[in-house]
Amino acid sequence: MNPASIHTPVLIIGGSLVGLSASLFLAWRGVPHILVEKHHGSAAHPRATGFTEHTLEFFRAAGIAERIPQVPPGATVRRARVESLAGQHYEELPWTPGQPEERDGKASPMAGAAIAQDLLEPILREAARARGADLRTGVELLSVQQDAQRVTAQLRQRDTGACYAVTADYLIAADGAASPIREQLGIARQGAGPLRVLRSVLFRCAEADAFLKRGIRQFDIDQPGFKGFLGTYSDGRWFLMFEEQSESTDAQLRALVRQALGKDMAFELITTGRWELAGLIADRFSEGRIFLAGDAAHQLPPTRGGYGANTGIDDAYNLAWKLQRVVRRQSRPALLDTYTDERRPIAWLRHQQTFARPDYAKWVGDGFKEEPLYGNLAMELGQLTRSGAILGADAALPPAAHPRDWAGQPGTRAPHVWVRHRGNSISSIDLLTEDFVLLTADPRWSAAAAHLSLNTLLAGADVVFPADQAFNDTFGTGDDGAVIVRPDGIIAWRSAPAAIPDAMLLRAVMEKITMPHC
Ligand SMILES: Cc1cc2nc3c(=O)[nH]c(=O)nc-3n(C[C@H](O)[C@H](O)[C@H](O)COP(=O)(O)OP(=O)(O)OC[C@H]3O[C@@H](n4cnc5c(N)ncnc54)[C@H](O)[C@@H]3O)c2cc1C
Repeated sequence: MNPASIHTPVLIIGGSLVGLSASLFLAWRGVPHILVEKHHGSAAHPRATGFTEHTLEFFRAAGIAERIPQVPPGATVRRARVESLAGQHYEELPWTPGQPEERDGKASPMAGAAIAQDLLEPILREAARARGADLRTGVELLSVQQDAQRVTAQLRQRDTGACYAVTADYLIAADGAASPIREQLGIARQGAGPLRVLRSVLFRCAEADAFLKRGIRQFDIDQPGFKGFLGTYSDGRWFLMFEEQSESTDAQLRALVRQALGKDMAFELITTGRWELAGLIADRFSEGRIFLAGDAAHQLPPTRGGYGANTGIDDAYNLAWKLQRVVRRQSRPALLDTYTDERRPIAWLRHQQTFARPDYAKWVGDGFKEEPLYGNLAMELGQLTRSGAILGADAALPPAAHPRDWAGQPGTRAPHVWVRHRGNSISSIDLLTEDFVLLTADPRWSAAAAHLSLNTLLAGADVVFPADQAFNDTFGTGDDGAVIVRPDGIIAWRSAPAAIPDAMLLRAVMEKITMPHC
């Protein structure tokens, strides 16, 4: 085949966590695409280890959750302030200082996961390929241009130097915090800015694993003259991060590792590097046919909520179903304009919440506007999504709330309830991943939807909710209402109180929330 003639509906640039997640979600939804990544494998440099229930829900939908080891339901990775790993333990630290941990395992069928980024990425890579994704590693984007019809990317196979062009209907830029694509588009960023550069050291130390018996896996090292952060990947590998005053030699790094361990233990240095702690959010997440996702769109410090990659994987989930509909001409491209409207406020709130937390507030100083502090579950499962494709996400609603405080409001994540469906006990969210679904307990709404291309689930018949979590209460519909849930599990519409079931009304609602092709 003439390489110059390659065309794909979607081209993804960057094959780290977010690009690979986008590839997996697109492949699962049957959207042909090409992903290019300049490296062949995953970076060894220590990065993400913490993944939220919400992220695991996306992986559950795409069929790979069972391959990712989860923490026990309701649990989180525990952290303590210590003199050293082997030395005195001063106190256990909460994920959000000043906030009680509210996880009881009820809000989601999934628990969070503690898995090193370089172990998760191969799972995503393999799963995306198995679902038909065209992943090209060792391939670099040299330049990109777009016009009203297409995006054209110039690529180079790094080991041979061969260059070729790929055209695409849409491009996802998952090319990281420095995003050359974002820079080329001239999209500026706002936020706390670059705050500091940290040194990290990854090492193997089997002996240190003996100190994990108490269940603490992350350690704030607090010694006179040395503050650091020590953690484990739970596979014999450990990382130490600290602010470096001047370039350290290997001998100095080894001495600091020993200081953090607090006992003479044998260890092997694997790699060492630097990373920038920064809070920067792009002014817009798209330009024409190009969409920024992950760190390209929002650089967030690795807070205890693990907002960085989790927010990016959520971007990819949001984009995948919209691209699916637009590529299949089921929706107008205007549906894709809702991406910035929906995702930027979510990223911005995460930025603000990071610096509203006492442990990060010190980095931004007094100029920072104080914000109410939302709990971890509110931020992970209870953030509100607003755009023109969601009807009735009332301006009076808070931007986030604990999932138990929501009840079917448009813009919220459809709640998880263990329900009976076709004789099986499954999560309600498992029924809400493929297409738009109308949920109601009133057969008149199902009848009204009968001639629309809209799946319906009749509570009490198709799906049975438990008595203590009745559908009408959980989704706030009352006895005779209905909701429509999008393929990403967000409630897009809820009937007004006492609304009369009507096919014309439903058709008008569907036109607005799906932005159909006309
Ligand atoms: C110490 C640390 C701890 C963290 N902990 C967590 C955590 O616990 N939870 C969490 O959610 N997040 C965490 N993060 C953040 C997380 O690592 C990042 O958010 C995540 O890596 C972003 O993924 P990405 O795919 O958007 O970008 P990146 O991981 O930066 O990947 C961008 C990719 O694009 C490729 N690329 C760039 N330019 C080109 C080009 N021209 N051609 C081809 N390929 C290109 C690069 O090679 C790279 O592979 C942590 C980060 C750090 C530094």
